[in-house]
Parts: sequence; C-alpha cells; structure tokens
Amino acid sequence: MQNSLRSICIVGGGTAGWMAASLLSSTLRGSKIKLTVVESPDIATIGVGESTVPSIMDFVQASQLDLKSLIQACAASFKLGIRFNEWTSKDSSYFHPFGKIGKDINGFDFYQAWLKSIADGHQTEWLEHSPSAVMAQNARFMLRPQNPRNWVEGSFAHALHLDAVLFARYLRDICIKRGVRRVEATVSKAVVSTNAFIERLELHDLSTIESDFFIDCTGFSALLSEQTLKVGYEDWSHYLPCDRAVTVQSESAEQIPPYTTATALPAGWAWNIPLQHRQGNGYVFSSRYCTDAQATDALLEHIKVKALNTPKIIPFKSGKRNKIWHKNCLALGLSAGFLEPLESTAIHLVYKTLVHFIKHFPDRDFDTHTEQVFNQKIDCDYEEVRDFIILHYYTSKRRDSEFWKWCRTMPIPDSLRRKLLAFEIDGRIDDMPGCFFTSDSWCSILEGMGIRPKKYHPLLDAFSRQDLANTLSQNIHTVRSSVASMPFHTDFIKAHCATK
Ligand code: FAD
Repeated sequence: MQNSLRSICIVGGGTAGWMAASLLSSTLRGSKIKLTVVESPDIATIGVGESTVPSIMDFVQASQLDLKSLIQACAASFKLGIRFNEWTSKDSSYFHPFGKIGKDINGFDFYQAWLKSIADGHQTEWLEHSPSAVMAQNARFMLRPQNPRNWVEGSFAHALHLDAVLFARYLRDICIKRGVRRVEATVSKAVVSTNAFIERLELHDLSTIESDFFIDCTGFSALLSEQTLKVGYEDWSHYLPCDRAVTVQSESAEQIPPYTTATALPAGWAWNIPLQHRQGNGYVFSSRYCTDAQATDALLEHIKVKALNTPKIIPFKSGKRNKIWHKNCLALGLSAGFLEPLESTAIHLVYKTLVHFIKHFPDRDFDTHTEQVFNQKIDCDYEEVRDFIILHYYTSKRRDSEFWKWCRTMPIPDSLRRKLLAFEIDGRIDDMPGCFFTSDSWCSILEGMGIRPKKYHPLLDAFSRQDLANTLSQNIHTVRSSVASMPFHTDFIKAHCATK
C-alpha cells in the first residue's frame, strides 16, 4: 500500500533552502505533496558560496530554470576551472580545469599516453591537451554545444560564478510562481513526537507548522538535525587545518576571467571569484597560525583594490553530520556539514544530496533501510571531496611558514594514502562510480604540485613513439585552433547575458 508524503517543509531560505525548493518543485510537479519554505526575516544567510562546479548546469536543467535569465539575475560569469597560485612556491601557478583532458587513445586513459610521450622525450604540457584550460588561459568562452563539431567542443565543461544573495532571491521568485508556499518567520523550536520524529515547528509569532517531512537548511545552526534530533557531527578538522575565513567584496575587473583563483598565503589560501558587478574575495585560514586581524590585513593587501564592504569573519568546523538523513529530517547545505571551499564543492554537495534524496524518496513508512542506503551514498560523496581537498595541502611544497611546515607532516585518511600510492607507481587512478573528481582532476593537482608517477601503463608500449607524438601534436593543434575561434569571455557575456 502506498503511503505517500503529503507535505515537505524546508526550514531556511539560503542557497540550500531555495535550491531544494527549486529542484523539488520541478521534480514533484503533478504530485500532491505540498512544499513550504520557512525563512527568517531576522537571521541573515551566510552570503558567500559563489563559485560552483559543472554540476550546477545539471541543477539548472533538472530544476527547469532558464540559464540566460539566471545569469542576468545573479550577475554571473562562467568558470572553466581554478587557477592555483603559489601552492608549490612563490610565483608558481597551475590550473585545475573542468571537463576531459586529452583524447583517449585506443581506449587508454589519455594521461597514460601522455606519460609515455614524455618518457619518449616528446615534451608537451599536460594542460595543452585540456580544452577548458586553454580556453581559460586565453580568456575565451562558449557554451558547451549540444552537438559538438569536434572532440574539443565535446570535452570542455563549465560552471558558474554567482552572486549568492541574488541566486537565493532568483530561485525564491521562481518557486513562489510555481506555487511553493513561503512563510516569513523565525522558528523557535521543533517539537518531537514519542517516536523521535519531528512533529511540528513552533514559530516566534506562536503559530505552528506541521509537516510529514522536514529539510533542515538553517545553516551552521542546524536547528532540526543537531539542536533537535542531536545526530552528532563527525569532526574532520584534524585533516583540514583551516577553521575561519575573512571575506570582502571588491570592484569588478574590466576583463572577467573565466576561472576562480586560489592563492596560497602564509596560513591558508585566498579566493577570488569574478562576477559581472563585483568580485568576491576571502582568506581561508587556520586560527592556530593567524589571528583575525592578521588575516584581514593579509587579505586587504592581497586583493590590492578598494574593498566595497567591511571584512567579515566566518568561523567553521570541517566535517559532516553523522546522519545527513535521520527519521523525517534531511540536513542540507551548511546544516549537513562543511568542507572548506577550496574546490567550491558545497553547492555541488547540496545538489548531490537532493539527487540521492529524490532517488531514495521516502513515504510515511520511513523505511530505515532507505535512510541507511542514502546515508552511505552521501557519506561517500563527502569523503571523496574531503580527500580531494586534503590532497592540495598534503602535496604542497611550500615550507615558508609554520602552517605550511605543519602540512608536511599532517595526518591523511587511508583512502587518500591508497590513492596516492597507486598514482605514484604508474599513474592509474580508478574513477569510482558516481564520483565527481575524475582521474583527470587528480592528475591535474598532482602534476600541478610536481608529482609524477614512476612508470606508465605497460600496454602503451604497443604504440610507436613517432605515431604517438604525431597524434598528440595534432590534438594540440585542434585544441588551439578551436579555442582561437571562440569569443572572449567578457564579450560573450556582454553579447548574450549581461546583467541588466
Ligand atoms: P545559510 O546561507 O546560512 O542560510 C540559512 C537560512 O536559514 C537563512 O535563510 C536563515 O534565515 C535561515 N534560518 C536559520 N535559523 C532559522 C530559524 N530558527 N528559523 C527560520 N529560519 C532560520 N559553496 C560553494 O559551493 N562555493 C563556494 O565558493 C563557497 N564558498 C564558501 C566560503 C565560505 C567561507 C563558507 C563558510 C561557505 C562557502 N560555501 C561555498 C558554502 C555555501 O556558502 C553554502 O553551502 C550555501 O550558501 C548554503 O548555505 P545554507 O543555505 O545552508 O545556509
């Protein structure tokens, strides 16, 4: 017997809350389930979270949003990857591009073919084979076409830089048009029934809201999942040393780079996110090695241009809830956990959580097996992101401050240790099903940090040195000529999606 949910109440009107309402209002179209969003007029959203990864494009499509109007409304720009400055030494720089790198050769991973070509003495740069990296380097951009004309057009991928406040507002307006009920109120407490399920919310104005299911999008306060259900938190701060950020906005640059920049600083790293109307900046640092005042001064000196607002300090603890779904409550966004923003993955994890949730959508029987399977899947996603972020600190060659010296001896999870060992032998990194960071991403960071495997895949010896060199040279030519025919990123925005 079907025992469907009748209502879902989303508590919190930040990025996570309105993303949930957008995707669910699209997915549940035609169903009888009522969606409500409660957002407090008194508690501000975090107001950061402006750099995304390519899954944002899947979110836009799955939520049936119009990309052009979203970009205009959120003063967005496009992102082809992340430029990492000074992570190996002062003045060093490398790029982590989105999309596929190189063209696989007879079914072999391109990185293996490239390693053989290097061993053969054919010196090409790894990133010359990445369409996204070459586009970013030349500040070129086009949308990924539905029918690519060649492998270059079919290989690159992009994400968005978005104004966080405008993004939540844009999604909210769409959701309201779709019939999502919005309640402007602060929740004072959640009332739990005898079977430890959330029964209703009590609001500051003394009214109540009942619902079959609740999505906790209350940010770091985690009002439902932690304060009410006490699911507990898995603290990963021993792996991820940074625990604070100072953020500030600055004027927009004339030319908008199609990438995020992450520059290593003495006690962490600083981001720059270029939007159409301004830039977002922040210094993510460890309070063990730097005070708030030192971090603020360092950030203002680093950005070199006039700040538009007063710097704001945001404390955080890296980790995740022990159970992201518990009983009739799903934690989403900052209430589910937080991994520092080095690879801009928080919005991606919001989307991933929603995708798993929709796949394992509950009914009022609340089968515990469904909850368990969901939690295993989302835990894997958090662990994947955690390991990938740790990789940057652990492999950095900077030793010029106490913070970077500590990174040399930092503990790492076994899962990461195993991956690094496999890579060091012959560069083979197995992509786990459903993982976001493919072997191309791992190889980009490791190559960028100057770490290369000892050997390549033995079967690549079947390729002749000259044939391989010719193929690679031809591929580079195709990348360069395809990119040269694309418009400049800033011109593309002006022509197609400038904010009004
Ligand atoms: P919030 O934005 O904090 O929203 C919480 C909401 O809950 C608010 O609407 C508030 O009013 C409401 N609320 C709280 N309590 C109550 C209550 N009692 N009653 C009613 N309503 C209530 N992510 C990325 O993907 N890319 C990035 O580049 C990135 N950079 C980041 C940098 C920093 C320093 C930090 C800290 C985070 C960053 N993130 C990034 C994460 C990103 O900001 C969040 O994942 C995203 O904004 C979602 O936030 P949220 O909606 O969970 O919480």
